[in-house]
Parts: sequence; C-alpha cells; structure tokens
Amino acid sequence: MLRKPPASRPGLESIKRLVIKIGSSSVFGKKKVNRPFLKDLANQISRLQKKGIDVVIVSSGAVSLGHWQLQWPKPFGQLSVPEKQGLAAVGQGILMENFRRIFQPQGLHIGQILLSAADMNRRDSYLHLRNAMETLIKAKVIPVLNENDSVAVEELLFGDNDTLAANVALMVNADLLVIFSDIDGFLIDGVRESWIKKIDTKILQNISGGTNQYGTGGMMTKIRAADLLMKNGMKCVIQNFNARKSLEVLLQGRDIGTLFFNPTEAQHWSGKKRWIALGKSSRGTIFVDNGAAAQLKKKGSSLLAIGIREIEGNFSMGDQVDIADASGVFARGLSHFSAQELTKIKGHHSSEFSILLGKNTYQTVVHRNNLVLLGSQEEQHLS
Ligand code: GLU
Repeated sequence: MLRKPPASRPGLESIKRLVIKIGSSSVFGKKKVNRPFLKDLANQISRLQKKGIDVVIVSSGAVSLGHWQLQWPKPFGQLSVPEKQGLAAVGQGILMENFRRIFQPQGLHIGQILLSAADMNRRDSYLHLRNAMETLIKAKVIPVLNENDSVAVEELLFGDNDTLAANVALMVNADLLVIFSDIDGFLIDGVRESWIKKIDTKILQNISGGTNQYGTGGMMTKIRAADLLMKNGMKCVIQNFNARKSLEVLLQGRDIGTLFFNPTEAQHWSGKKRWIALGKSSRGTIFVDNGAAAQLKKKGSSLLAIGIREIEGNFSMGDQVDIADASGVFARGLSHFSAQELTKIKGHHSSEFSILLGKNTYQTVVHRNNLVLLGSQEEQHLS
C-alpha cells in the first residue's frame, strides 16, 4: 500500500525538469532487454512532457548489452578496461536501438549524447554540451546520455553513471534526479527511509556495499550523487524501478523511494558556480589561515592573499583550485593568479601586488563570485 508522505516530506508536484538515471540492471534483466520497463517509462515520459516537464535520461547498459550480444566468454565482473570499452561499442548501439523502437511509437524523439569527465572539465566543452542539451530539450527531444566508454581515458572516466547523472542534473539545473535502483530506496535495518536531509555518520554507516551482477556503483555512488545535489539545494530520489508508473506516482507526491533534500543548507549556485562545484579539474590547493577560512565560511568573502599560507600544485591564472584550512578542503574556486605568482604575493596586502609582480592586477585571489563552499567535513568524506 502506498502511504501519503509524512507531513514533513516536501511534495514533488512542482518539478519542471527531471533527470532519470537508469542502471544496467533496469535496462537489461533476465538476459534480455527489459522492454516492459522501457515501455512503461516511455508512456510516463510522454504524459509528463505533455504537462510541460522536461526529461533527460542517463542510461547505462552498453557494456552489459555488448557482453550479452557477443556471448563474451569472460564473466562480467572480470572484464578488463579495454574489454569493457570494446563491448560498450557493441552494446551502445543496441541500447539506443531499443530506446528508439520503444519511445518512437509514443511520439518521443531521442538524441544520444556520449560524454566523459573530460568534456565536463573544460569550461568551453561544458558550455557547448549544455547548449546542445538545452537545444534538444527545447525541441522536446529526450537526451539519452551515457559515458563515452569506448574512448574515455581511464583516469577521465566518470566510472559510474550515478556520478554522471548528478553532474548532468547540475549542468541542466534540474529540479530532481531520480535514480532507479532494484531496492525501494535507502534502507536502515531493512526499513526504507522516506526523507534524508543530511548525509551524516548514521547514513554513512548504513551504506551497504556491493552491487548486482551488471551494476557499477552500488549505494555509495548513489549517496555521493545525492550529496552533490543536496549541497545545491536540489532534490534526489532513489527508488525502485520495478513498480509500474512509479515516476508519475512519485511526482504526484506519494511516499515512495527515499528523498534526499536539505531545505536549510540550500546554496543555489549560479551556472558558473555549479561548474566549479563539479571540481573535476582542480589543479592545486591554496592553504589559508584560520582568519581567512572564517571570512570565507561565515561571511562569504573573497579570498585575499594576506590569508594565504601555502600553495600546492602548478596551476595557471583562471584554473580551478581547492581551498583548504587545517582541517582540509572546504571550498573551491577559480584563481586570479598562477601558483608561481601566488608564491610571491601570499601573506601580502593587495597594495603590494604591483611591486611584487611588476604589473597591475586583481585585488582578490579568488573572487566570491567564483567561489563555492563545499559543506561540512563530514560531507567531504564523500568526495
Ligand atoms: N557506462 C556503463 C555502461 O553503459 C555503465 C556505468 C554504470 O553502470 O554506472 O555499461
């Protein structure tokens, strides 16, 4: 029986833009493509679109479909990276063919986008990607994204689609990310939590590892994805893909799945800050004293050179850097200065910059418009 959400859980009736993450085990079950699931999903999406809700899909399944299609002799869990890359090349086509065959009769157009972390790291390719996505969404096409497994360099892989989906949700500024799973939500002692407002020690202790035969991330990557979105005041729901019409039921405000949403710590970053928060391309770390850390954390000030103690890494002007105090990294931003320049001006007042550097330049090291606070140390354990 569906329960009404507890009075305190916010309804999801006003969601306007939705990212759905579908795992390999949802797309591909019992040695064949899960057509009933995809059909039900297409039906729901077509109705949601008519209500003016934008939908973006992140779907896994390329490697497992390739593995199945070629009857690959090695078990899935023992595949090497090159094998996965090759199998993804076979399976991605099958995946999209199934989406097309099932979504088209519902009047839905789909558009494939394959990306890797490198495409998000570079500000210019990130913006191109975002523009392409917006163009598709405006034309009522459903973008279907997956990692570009076949060409991604190992170090630049997202590695799991929970992370990729959270990045995509941030990029398109979605109201909600729904992560489909084969369990009912986040469970503590076997009981589903309805609403989680903070990833605290209790939650971290209850993350049971492991994934099913074809999955990649397990619960840890899902919680990390939820945490990233919560920091930006966004919502994420982990819910079972098995129930019919479950998306519509969720958006009607019923109590299914686990909602991750922190109504009090919402930061609502600007577009540029959302990109900084993804933090894939931090090139170094600036260590600051307690005074500077307090100014940044409590007052939302810009970072000045006077409070800088140490520089680590070899970054250039405009690069992304982490900002740390004695207890670790607590912020991230874009530096107005290279690491070399910062070594000369650290601890100095901005009036001395022109003498120390031999040129007129910025007053701040990281301007507050380009700076994102990353939340508590507890939450840092997730990143
Ligand atoms: N990109 C992989 C695939 O399509 C899946 C990664 C994941 O399971 O998170 O097979």
